[in-house]
Amino acid sequence: MSAIIFDRVAIIGAGLIGGSIARAARQQGIVRSIVVTARSDASRARLTELGFADEVVATNAEAATNADLVILCVPVGICGAVAEEIAPHLKAGAVVSDVGSVKGSVLKDMAAHLPDHVHLIPAHPVAGTENSGPDAGFAELFINRWCILTPPAGAEATQVERLASFWRAIGANVETMTAEHHDKVLAVTSHLPHLIAYTIVGTADELEGVTESEVLKFSAGGFRDFTRIAASDPTMWRDVFLSNKDAVLDMLGEFQEDLSKLTRAIRRGDGEALFEHFTRTRAIRRGIVNIGQDEAAADFGRKHASLGTVDKPS
Ligand code: NAP
Repeated sequence: MSAIIFDRVAIIGAGLIGGSIARAARQQGIVRSIVVTARSDASRARLTELGFADEVVATNAEAATNADLVILCVPVGICGAVAEEIAPHLKAGAVVSDVGSVKGSVLKDMAAHLPDHVHLIPAHPVAGTENSGPDAGFAELFINRWCILTPPAGAEATQVERLASFWRAIGANVETMTAEHHDKVLAVTSHLPHLIAYTIVGTADELEGVTESEVLKFSAGGFRDFTRIAASDPTMWRDVFLSNKDAVLDMLGEFQEDLSKLTRAIRRGDGEALFEHFTRTRAIRRGIVNIGQDEAAADFGRKHASLGTVDKPS
């Protein structure tokens, strides 16, 4: 049994990320009790059935009361409103964190409401799937994935380390940086790729002269991998783009310049430029596999039927 890191933990929003944290923390025995919130009778009933929390309550204020660690696992656009709601109920010395994919706006929105007697330490686990809701979570989600902490200037080092040890205990590697730097890095590694996926899947949907059934049938040519990303939660991603507007627009500018270079190379028949670019990007993919952030198996680890299951031509 691991040592207890926080006694009472409140998870506000027990969806994919919140539900995964609760399952993992309970499995690792690092908390004494977990309380989760759910707004509707139906989700409270489902959470009770799933059984990964000790208590399922109806209001965020009730969850936050007496909690030693409160983690907001809701869309980034409502973190400020939730902070305002829980602020009067927080106990002195509590750690208040979140899991939002954008950090600058969350830090600003939450800090505006929280009392001085709590420790605000925003966090972002860089792990997820395209599924949402309490059933989507699983305890292994954070294993060998990064969790970025963005403590504001003046945050107490012992509390930052306490939160870091919580994330390490549920499998994550932890790195600390400023909220501003986080938003710049994630704009290129996550937000821009999602925007591109949302665009390309929409473009294919509206194409004239190519039927929808052809797009679906021949999707293994590349389109399929974009559809997984483009299936991500619409509320979450609307909030990400609105909250990280400046960094995303900067990256989009860089991307458009690079796209113009490749467009020119194709138009001019400049095979050397294309080959050089694709060689560089292939090395980046290999680098990601080498540091264990994806699998080396062919076709991104997808399972394939064996030839024995394919009908032979007569
Ligand atoms: P999710 O599965 O949709 O879960 C969000 C949860 O928030 C739902 O259970 C929802 O409950 C609840 N909620 C919404 N508004 C609420 C409110 N006012 N009070 C209490 N609960 C409320 O979403 P998720 O993927 O876990 O994402 C949550 C956060 O994690 C987002 O900020 C996102 O940026 C971040 N994140 C996501 C990923 C990813 O890949 N998905 C990765 C890293 C970080 P209801 O059922 O009542 O609506």
